Amino acid sequence: MSTKKPRICIVYTGGTIGMCWTSEGYRPRPGSLERLLTELPPFRSEDVPGFEVMQYDPLLDSSNMTPGEWLRIAEDIRSRYDDYDGFLVLHGTDTMAYTSSALSFMLEGLGKPVILTGSQIPLGQPRSDGFDNLLTSLMILGRHHETLPEVCVYFHNRLFRGNRCTKVDAEGFDAFASPNLPPLGECGIDIEINWELVRGRPPESRLFVREMGSANVGAFRIFPGIKAEYLSALLSPPVQGLVLECFGSGNAPADNQEFMLALRRASEQGVVIVAVPQPLRGSADLTLYATGNALLDAGVVSGYDMTPEAALTKLYYLFEQGLPSDLVRDLVQKNLRGEVTIP
Ligand code: ASP
Repeated sequence: MSTKKPRICIVYTGGTIGMCWTSEGYRPRPGSLERLLTELPPFRSEDVPGFEVMQYDPLLDSSNMTPGEWLRIAEDIRSRYDDYDGFLVLHGTDTMAYTSSALSFMLEGLGKPVILTGSQIPLGQPRSDGFDNLLTSLMILGRHHETLPEVCVYFHNRLFRGNRCTKVDAEGFDAFASPNLPPLGECGIDIEINWELVRGRPPESRLFVREMGSANVGAFRIFPGIKAEYLSALLSPPVQGLVLECFGSGNAPADNQEFMLALRRASEQGVVIVAVPQPLRGSADLTLYATGNALLDAGVVSGYDMTPEAALTKLYYLFEQGLPSDLVRDLVQKNLRGEVTIP
């Protein structure tokens, strides 16, 4: 282990953590976060690694993020990869789970930790949760930069694998959960990492960034009374893949023949349709009910216990590589970055 103080790059993309109140509601304000970080004494303590802030211009509300911004974050990490021991991405909470999932696929050969965090109350306001989220993330990055080669989300005392978590609360501080994988770490008086869950370093030590931004994929949540036309519209060209959020353990209105036909036609034309469960916890088992078997029959594949965010970004990632749809259908059912439990 090296004795040099680790250096962390803070990639500040936007989000509530650095926002200020305006007549139009919360908006990011350039400069305010960096000023706070230099003024607040705990950020200069011995236990906290050295850091530099790289601030986006404009700062973004994460609702405005697209795969183009995921690529920008990944490229910013890649171009500074050799200069830092770890990366802290400050990000809005609304789409944080999409970005953390996307980065987990895009950053191939990642051997250093990348943690995303943000807050529910801006850092400059009383009772902000941003202070602990930011400080503890930095401390985890500093302590474990040699042994945590993962894209993670840290929020409210817990460290999650980035492609396993989802935003579950729009108001509470405990805003993220990882329903199908225990947290990678829990922070009370001590910072405890569950090393059994942490993925090993990849054999390839060079970081490679997979492009993002040209694949055509979508997501659709089935609901009672769904009309086949809605789905057909979504499944028409140029769509290449669709995440189908199904009832229960992977079920759909199999008696709706038009609906099933729309799925079958699209599958036959090469659209990869991945079923994930609407319930937060559990896996899509398409063999359990007749209403699930009908999906298999129509060419739908199971995404098992993937979050919708992980399934969507995995489709983006796979189609981005120009792979034929049969191979994408095959790979989407495999565990690539610890994002899925294959039964
Ligand atoms: N709308 C904000 C965002 O996602 C919410 C937040 O940061 O918590 O950027």
